[in-house]
Amino acid sequence: MIDFEIPPNIKQMQKMIHEFSVNSLRPISREFDEREHEKPWELINMMHAMTGGTGVMATPRSRKKEKKEGEKKEEGPVTGNVMAAILAEELTWGDAGLMLCLSGPGLGGAAIQATGTEEQKDRFLSRFKGEKPIWGAMAITEPGCGSDTAAITTTAARDGDYWVLNGEKIFVTSGLMAAQESDGFVVVWATVDKSAGRAGIKAFIVEKGAPGMKVTKVEHKLGIRASDTASIVFEDCRIPYDNILGSPEVIDKTKTEGFKGVMATFDATRPMVAAMAIGVGRAALDFTRETLEKEGIEIRYGASSFELTAVERDFMEMETNLHAARLLNWRACWMLDNKIPNNLEAAMGKAKSGLAATRATLKAVEILGPLGYSRKYLLEKWIRDAKINDIFEGTGQIQTLIVARRILDFTRKELK
Ligand SMILES: Cc1cc2nc3c(=O)[nH]c(=O)nc-3n(C[C@H](O)[C@H](O)[C@H](O)COP(=O)(O)OP(=O)(O)OC[C@H]3O[C@@H](n4cnc5c(N)ncnc54)[C@H](O)[C@@H]3O)c2cc1C
Repeated sequence: MIDFEIPPNIKQMQKMIHEFSVNSLRPISREFDEREHEKPWELINMMHAMTGGTGVMATPRSRKKEKKEGEKKEEGPVTGNVMAAILAEELTWGDAGLMLCLSGPGLGGAAIQATGTEEQKDRFLSRFKGEKPIWGAMAITEPGCGSDTAAITTTAARDGDYWVLNGEKIFVTSGLMAAQESDGFVVVWATVDKSAGRAGIKAFIVEKGAPGMKVTKVEHKLGIRASDTASIVFEDCRIPYDNILGSPEVIDKTKTEGFKGVMATFDATRPMVAAMAIGVGRAALDFTRETLEKEGIEIRYGASSFELTAVERDFMEMETNLHAARLLNWRACWMLDNKIPNNLEAAMGKAKSGLAATRATLKAVEILGPLGYSRKYLLEKWIRDAKINDIFEGTGQIQTLIVARRILDFTRKELK
């Protein structure tokens, strides 16, 4: 049985992060939303020093190696990724955009952690412990390819001791910081053989300064405006041959083992996005509760369903959905920590969390009316911040599709 009672030491850490969110994130939340693209350097440098450069979001650990016979499970109910999810929720309760704009390995680091060799992990992840903040990013999406990652057109061709990349990537989170403004890197998905479909898609680590890599645009966005989202063009971009993640071979075009490897990154990163969604949803829930209490309205948890007001019922539904999402997501994290395949659970957790958070923020505005619509308060911002969690790292619809395929045991071809 999985017991998710949070042990006292983690509760203590959760409390600390909560106070940090209250004192350091909330006060600058509005300012950096309005000054889109400007970096809160004071906060970035402070967090870099505090986390030793590892970033606020622990890089999800790999589940690449299957659990060995007799190998012990992680001790205790709150394992590494569960803890990371608890802390991510606490930080996005403070501010999702600020949390995303902080330095750290990010999705690119998660990809290296999930699919890189020990040498690559050492070469690329150890640099985050240096004096200066560094960003990592992951670039999959292209102008003609989003959910259907098999449609990637960016190419990687071998040229002696190098790979030469050509193509365009869009909507890369922290792309500007990773590719241009720090000594970071971008993990780029490209095809080494278009005729091989998914089997030909591989991931490549492109470091800042690689000749031929250029940031061409930084998006103006609805939400998470403190975080940069960039377009990056690769024109005969030359990178070392050993910067490929996984095997360069396209052994069997009917098999997609390489592609499954890169897709495994999502099983580790989706639970973190889900945790972020829950943090934003909970911010809206807490604000609604506090505002109602100021008006003398207490939520009566023990009251019979015949006595409940519509507001109480709506509030309890918001709260229940967020909590259900949290538990689903913790299960996905726990499985990841224990090297149990969690593709289904990670998709379930993300689908539920994205929806619960978007609905909670909208419902909060419905309950509070003008207070939720006014820019005097942050609730209108949380609506804008919540929605992204239902889009990046696979949309809600794509998560539902994965869940259906897994439960019904259908292949991609059978259910698309
Ligand atoms: C702020 C932001 C940050 C981002 N960060 C990154 C990043 O760091 N790296 C990166 O690579 N990408 C990133 N993205 C891109 C994001 O992952 C894509 O937008 C997302 O995968 C959806 O792709 P798309 O926009 O091309 O939509 P499409 O794939 O064109 O989908 C459009 C709509 O159709 C639905 N749909 C598509 N296929 C199906 C299907 N088979 N069944 C049912 N419904 C379907 C989708 O759910 C969606 O609602 C980011 C996007 C944003 C907005």
